Amino acid sequence: MSEIIVGIDLGGTGVKTAALTRDREVLAKDSRPTHAERGPDGVMDVMQSGVEEALKRGGVAKTDVLAVGIGSPGPLNWQTGIVYETPNLPGWKNEPLAEKMQSRLGLPCFLDNDANVACYGEYWLGAGRGTDCIACLTLGTGVGGGVVVFGQLLRGIDGTAAELGHIKVMRGGRRCGCGATGCLEAYASVTGMVKTAVEGIEAGRKTRLKEICGDDLSRLTGKMISQAAEQGDAFALWVVQETGTWLGIGISSLINALNPEKVVLCGGMIAAGEMLFDPIRKTAKELSFAVPFQRAEIVPAGLGDDSGVIGAAGCALARYDEGR
Ligand code: ZN
Repeated sequence: MSEIIVGIDLGGTGVKTAALTRDREVLAKDSRPTHAERGPDGVMDVMQSGVEEALKRGGVAKTDVLAVGIGSPGPLNWQTGIVYETPNLPGWKNEPLAEKMQSRLGLPCFLDNDANVACYGEYWLGAGRGTDCIACLTLGTGVGGGVVVFGQLLRGIDGTAAELGHIKVMRGGRRCGCGATGCLEAYASVTGMVKTAVEGIEAGRKTRLKEICGDDLSRLTGKMISQAAEQGDAFALWVVQETGTWLGIGISSLINALNPEKVVLCGGMIAAGEMLFDPIRKTAKELSFAVPFQRAEIVPAGLGDDSGVIGAAGCALARYDEGR
């Protein structure tokens, strides 16, 4: 066996690893807690063990591995492989992650932003397989973004492109975690959806949600909202649809700006299914040009939680082949 690539998805709570062939066959996977509290070197111990375990499970010799790709929360520099500072990983500051992992593993390591690798994973092996141009939104605590144009990640001149969660959907509007106002993320992330629900409940809207979270609105989650919506709570359904409408507004701009073949949505929120996708498609249709809207299929991720780890491997292979 030869020409194996390893992907690592580094998250604040878990580290996932996968070993794949060049032909996109997944040989083995590993998943373990990050132990972010141990700081950069402790986390790198975890990452190293994950790689070693995945190779062992896949029966892969290290000499058959071409490259290792790491998807990490940013901000980071994909070219130098440095993670600047990230709220999910306490104690990290200008950490040369790619270089350190390279010397630990004795293998070429490539660093990329987590949302970008998730997008690449969907393009390479997921819902976007067989396409040339896709845009991807990852709906979680925030809204991450990625764009693939003719097989290449859109990076921008400084590598900061495709922050799709921070396209503006409202003048003024809610304050976003990035410091600006009116960003898509402030409305369409899970956090934004919960905020929409809390605002409605505080304004006196009738719903079972208050009871579901034990009268403590700080315990309200996106999952509680979608479940209540499924069980017929009219207000919860409105919250899901409202979130879909905000997403549709943002996605219409992506469709007009990028003319993608697919817009792929990732993250736990997509489990809400058609309750969420119907208003997304309806709103995007109203606000987009007809030709790019008809082209752009708006679809859920094909790889579930594995878009990031698979995409980290796919990105590493592309960069290894291109020599950058
Ligand atoms: Zn923002």
